[in-house]
Amino acid sequence: MLDCAIIGAGLAGLVAAQHLADRGLKVVVLEARDRVGGRVENKTLSDGSYVELGGQWIGPGFDALLEIIDGLGLETIGLPAAGNLAIRLRGKSLSVPSSEDGRTLTPFEVSDLGQGLLRLRRLAKRLRDDPAWRKANDAWLGQDLRRWVSTNLRTEGAQRRFAEVYQAAFGAMPKGATLLGGLHQVNSGPDLESMLASNGGLHQKRVAGGMAAVADALAEKLGGVVRLGKEVVRVEHDDASARIILADGEVIEAKQVISTLPPRLAVALPHEPALPDWRAEAADKVSAGNVIKAFLIYERPFWRELGLSGQSSADEGAVRVTFDTTAGDSERGHLMGFFEGADAASLARRSSTLRERAFVDSVVRTFGEVARNPVTYIERDWASEKFTGGCHGAHFAPGVWTTQGPVLARPEGVLHWAGAEYASRFNGYLEGAVRSGREVAAAVARNLA
Ligand SMILES: Cc1cc2nc3c(=O)[nH]c(=O)nc-3n(C[C@H](O)[C@H](O)[C@H](O)COP(=O)(O)OP(=O)(O)OC[C@H]3O[C@@H](n4cnc5c(N)ncnc54)[C@H](O)[C@@H]3O)c2cc1C
Repeated sequence: MLDCAIIGAGLAGLVAAQHLADRGLKVVVLEARDRVGGRVENKTLSDGSYVELGGQWIGPGFDALLEIIDGLGLETIGLPAAGNLAIRLRGKSLSVPSSEDGRTLTPFEVSDLGQGLLRLRRLAKRLRDDPAWRKANDAWLGQDLRRWVSTNLRTEGAQRRFAEVYQAAFGAMPKGATLLGGLHQVNSGPDLESMLASNGGLHQKRVAGGMAAVADALAEKLGGVVRLGKEVVRVEHDDASARIILADGEVIEAKQVISTLPPRLAVALPHEPALPDWRAEAADKVSAGNVIKAFLIYERPFWRELGLSGQSSADEGAVRVTFDTTAGDSERGHLMGFFEGADAASLARRSSTLRERAFVDSVVRTFGEVARNPVTYIERDWASEKFTGGCHGAHFAPGVWTTQGPVLARPEGVLHWAGAEYASRFNGYLEGAVRSGREVAAAVARNLA
């Protein structure tokens, strides 16, 4: 019998497997797809360059991920080009310096924003450290997050930038989001101030060769431990061990199991005995995000000739943010953008030709007619992927993560859960996946000792 069976060969599963294998434990990673990486994936283009269809950016504080990248002998690279940020606001296009915030906001707005973030961070710390304060202020903490922002940030510029940074870090603020939910996000996500200080610092670094190179290198080190095309369809468990049943009929027995499936997929997997109802209910309220990551590939990165970085932000349109993700030595220009939220949901039901047209229309409005004729359009709709079911990560409905989320990560006898959505810090991010994989593997190793 194996010591541990890990379901899923995304970053969490691979990191957990490495941790256990390094301790001499007998482990297997069962991956349904015919590749490793999960929500991290490269697509190679005809000119030999590549685009990254899933997670790629390394943000401030991603120390565990950087340690792994370093240990594997891989390198990180910055953004491909310096240049101005293109902003389209209320129908007007602006080109603003992207490196220094002081030039895009007035000094008064910068100080207003700084004060607001400081206040939010202090409240988040108090919430974390002082349960009595939290109890006493329960009703006040339930106030609308947007209302808190508008009463605590007085200038329009600061409010707007706050909303941009918040959205870049945690996704769109859901309707009905409470101050309490926002403070939990601040405690579990990346540092808003460092994101702001580096002007979108979340988008700073990536791995040379793509984040998929990290997954590939981890899998190569693990060798035969990683088994591809092995969809798990059922888990039978008792106090001492588990039987994992695969779609091809094979049965794997292990003393412990780590499931790295996103919460909804994890509870949708049949278990015997069945998982407790509260787990299914909690996961059910966790709706996966709706993001289509898309690329327009141009003959050349025309934006650089205009003194622009390719990074853009708009207040309307199907694609509202873009980045230059041109990889390696490619002479072409890769412009990446996201269809998000309601736009992604409705456009997902249409053809890819229509989405391409919507993307092109958006960038033409921002960059001009020069953006009209890309060579290729590439996209990945993660919500339609059977073994992912949504992205970036799960977006917790208001109150769900705060009331139920942490318990979702609690083990159930010999069953453990790891992955980006179970992480207490950097929840939903690559760093969260790595930290969670490492922490859960350490707990499993202790159980087996
Ligand atoms: C478009 C997009 C952009 C993103 N951008 C960023 C970014 O820039 N920076 C950042 O930090 N994060 C980003 N993320 C988030 C990041 O990619 C994820 O948080 C992280 O990769 C999740 O890793 P994981 O191991 O927890 O889960 P996953 O990668 O989802 O791994 C789960 C694995 O389980 C497998 N599986 C599913 N069902 C079964 C089954 N029944 N049997 C066996 N195997 C199964 C899946 O195939 C998958 O390989 C992005 C995500 C997406 C989709």
